[in-house]
Amino acid sequence: MQPNHGTFTAPRWWRRLDELTRPVDAKTTDALAQRWRELPESVRTLGQVLGRFGVGCEGTHGVFPKCDFACTPCYHSADANKVRIDGPHTLAQIESQMSYLEQSRGSHAHAQLIGGEVSLLSGEDHAAALEIMRRHGREPMSFSHGDFDYEYLEELAVDANGKRRFKKLSFAVHIDSTMKGRRGMRRALDEASLDPYRRRVAAMFQRLRREHGVKYFLAHNVTVTPSNVDQIPEVIRAARGLGYGMFSFQPAAFVGDERRWRDDYENLEADRVWSMIELGAGARLPYEVLQVGDTRCNRTAWGFYVGERWFSFFNDEDPKDLAARDALLEHLGGVHFNAPAHLLVLRLGRVALRRPSLIPMALGWLQRTVRRSGGLVRLMSERPVPVTFVMHRFMHAADVKPAWELLERGVMSEDPRILETQERLLACSYAMAHPETGTLVPACVQHGVLDADENAALATLLPIPRRRTFSAEIGN
Ligand code: SF4
Repeated sequence: MQPNHGTFTAPRWWRRLDELTRPVDAKTTDALAQRWRELPESVRTLGQVLGRFGVGCEGTHGVFPKCDFACTPCYHSADANKVRIDGPHTLAQIESQMSYLEQSRGSHAHAQLIGGEVSLLSGEDHAAALEIMRRHGREPMSFSHGDFDYEYLEELAVDANGKRRFKKLSFAVHIDSTMKGRRGMRRALDEASLDPYRRRVAAMFQRLRREHGVKYFLAHNVTVTPSNVDQIPEVIRAARGLGYGMFSFQPAAFVGDERRWRDDYENLEADRVWSMIELGAGARLPYEVLQVGDTRCNRTAWGFYVGERWFSFFNDEDPKDLAARDALLEHLGGVHFNAPAHLLVLRLGRVALRRPSLIPMALGWLQRTVRRSGGLVRLMSERPVPVTFVMHRFMHAADVKPAWELLERGVMSEDPRILETQERLLACSYAMAHPETGTLVPACVQHGVLDADENAALATLLPIPRRRTFSAEIGN
């Protein structure tokens, strides 16, 4: 008779501790592996972050399509403004989209609360939307034109009893001269005339931190057209010291409401726009050292300012920094860096225990970074300020439609322009969820293909109440 050794079962508390301190949870590991498998071979570069470090960004759609501005161009479809703002609809849709994203893309990601003007939601509904997103592991960023008052921000951040709802808020604030409708400046003649508005938004968040202890992350977004492309350097120089942690530029595309298209957006070559961003940043911005999807869609440069000089986190000309980058992507990919500090420390500790060689490598990188940015004494007197530069090039609806139709049939186009569109869609870093069909789509597909029908249906479901006529007013 064989002795029965039994099977050792760890106590429940031990399993729970193991789960909590595991550097990357199983759902995220699976989501990363799937994203990597789906990427076209051409973008599986050494610096690729999709499928290795994260799954990419996410956004909401059809949750509050209305906007009170009239920008040229505007990515919203012609029917967006026929849909009324409706809190219960917004929250139900966000719940459904976020739970689908959590299920299909892992337990944490960055997600934009977007799809109209977010400040048209009441402060209560806006706060409830952010709470739902957080509950599903999403790090939300509210996307707004920034034309609201401090009282709105306060209502969002603090409840009716004066209790702080959030420790930190993230906003992407869109301010540029293609927009129309800002109070006090319905139409801006140039970017410089909007500088007071850039300062005003930043000042509101500083006040919120002062008065309620709410930290913030602010991104500054700009739509780029042939009329403002040469003003990019000035925008960056004027707003750089205001507290914006990211400057994101979106060259305009022929998508959304056709009545709002102006200029020839074909003129906006990626290199031209990026060189303007570099001019404003005052530095060369290496965007391949960490690549997000396809560089024809995205260029991103992560780094920090010390005084007037910007430094990339990784020096793309130093093989040791590139080795550190490789180690980061290989061993820290999928780690939830926004997790509570005590958990993050324990998780990083487990990574270090498993790979002790990472410690001298990280210290070497730190030493080199301190040295090339001016030395310890300088860094102690001039605090480094992290600032990320981004260019995100949406695609024309006329290209996305045929490209997507073929992709859905599993066919790659022979037309080079449509083939490029397909490759970019396959490497997309910005997904939107359709739980009703069990699909995820690139934001380009959402705006270029699906928005029109979706908003037409919403206009019937949530019509704008008609104004009462004079005769109705007087009771005839
Ligand atoms: S496919 Fe469109 S939405 Fe996706 S990353 Fe490229 S430009 Fe952005």
